[in-house]
Amino acid sequence: MSVIVAKFGGTSLANAAQFRKVQSIIAANKDRCFVVPSAPGKRTPDDNKITDLLYLCHAHVQQSIAFDEVFNIICERYLEIVAALGLSLDLTPYLKEIKAKITAGASADYVASRGEYLNGLILANLIGYQFVDPGEMVLFNERGILDMEQALKNLKSPLEKAQRAVIPGFYGLLPNGQIKTFSRGGSDITGSLVARSINADLYENWTDVSGFLMADPKVVKNPKPMQKITYRELRELAYMGATVLHEESVFPVRQAGIPINIKNTNDPNHPGTIIVNDAEPQGTITGIAGKKDFTVIAVEKAMMNAELGFGRKLLSILEANAISFEHIPSGIDTMSVVISDSQLNGKLDKILDEIHAQCKPDSLETHPHMALIATVGRGMVYTPGIAAKLFSALAKFNINVRMIDQGSSELNIIVGVQTNDFEKTVQAIYHAFVE
Ligand code: ADP
Ligand code: ASP
Ligand code: MG
Repeated sequence: MSVIVAKFGGTSLANAAQFRKVQSIIAANKDRCFVVPSAPGKRTPDDNKITDLLYLCHAHVQQSIAFDEVFNIICERYLEIVAALGLSLDLTPYLKEIKAKITAGASADYVASRGEYLNGLILANLIGYQFVDPGEMVLFNERGILDMEQALKNLKSPLEKAQRAVIPGFYGLLPNGQIKTFSRGGSDITGSLVARSINADLYENWTDVSGFLMADPKVVKNPKPMQKITYRELRELAYMGATVLHEESVFPVRQAGIPINIKNTNDPNHPGTIIVNDAEPQGTITGIAGKKDFTVIAVEKAMMNAELGFGRKLLSILEANAISFEHIPSGIDTMSVVISDSQLNGKLDKILDEIHAQCKPDSLETHPHMALIATVGRGMVYTPGIAAKLFSALAKFNINVRMIDQGSSELNIIVGVQTNDFEKTVQAIYHAFVE
């Protein structure tokens, strides 16, 4: 018998009907021994995610506004699921305790984590698996960074002992005993940790699309699915905005070579996408992904190339302000830094002042509203003509490219364009290479 870890995302567990689908997927293969649920997601496009509602409860308390109305919506969602599934599980004491803790000013992470916790209780009850709380095992350090080695060690024996278990995703514990969550979408990481800790044969990630698609289906109509991709491509695409899988979820399983299979809960027979260490290229490009909301800080200074330590000075200013950057395209007398707006977060003026004072540039400009688009593919390596094809497609659509970056691995080409051109750029690249 092989061992499969199955992680189910929010839409896969959004209501009782979706829980039933999950139940039959698990029943269909006895190897699906460990199951990692997210919190209930959207049932319709304009519905609310439970995680968002929980954060909203916390925000109400912070502003000293009553949160009963929002909390009642959450309770109704869970109680409706339990009732429709006909379970004898009584969630009222859990909901009461959570409400009391939120009222007493519990942390945002604690509040958000309860979405997964409650869903885990329901799923364990429905399928008759043991409930294992990751809070006691998935550990973070004082700086809030996952201690992967420790988490893997801690999870191993309780999971092996349980043989079949439901482990809620998204959270763990800080050294001071407080709950800490991953960043949004982080149940994917929990699933990967569980898979690695018990040395699973396969990590299945069940969602609402039939695998990794060559582009975001919200941007390109009916993009082609990818059958097989590598961990490195997945990491590039996920980091660059293909949100189907959390960008950090690849690390635990990659080390052990455990394949990830992205599958669709609403179409379980579709093979989905397999992610492995190495695979023959199936085309020149594997996929396209992108992110909006970047700012470019462009610095110009005569003889910059000859000034020892110029780059270090500029980057030290960012480091001192706790800002990480994405790219630093540079010329002889110019250096630009591409930074995500979420990193800048009100610090732009301060940084510009410091650059003026310490780097003494001839000119200093900022270009806001930039988007980055990555074209990724293991088939691009050593293949001539890729860049020419890409840039002629962009020229044909009159898209002004503000930045170009190609990693030395040749696994990706990243272009920076105005945010307004984001969708047009992804579509132009897709059509140039795929159709
Ligand atoms: P879950 O709640 O199951 O974790 P997510 O919403 O996190 O699901 O991820 C699935 C969604 O990712 C899809 O519904 C789709 O809209 C979006 N998505 C973005 N880029 C891609 C892509 N390249 N391939 C597939 N889905 C993508
Ligand atoms: N429920 C969390 C979120 O909405 C984690 C997850 O879905 O993976 O971000
Ligand atoms: Mg997700």
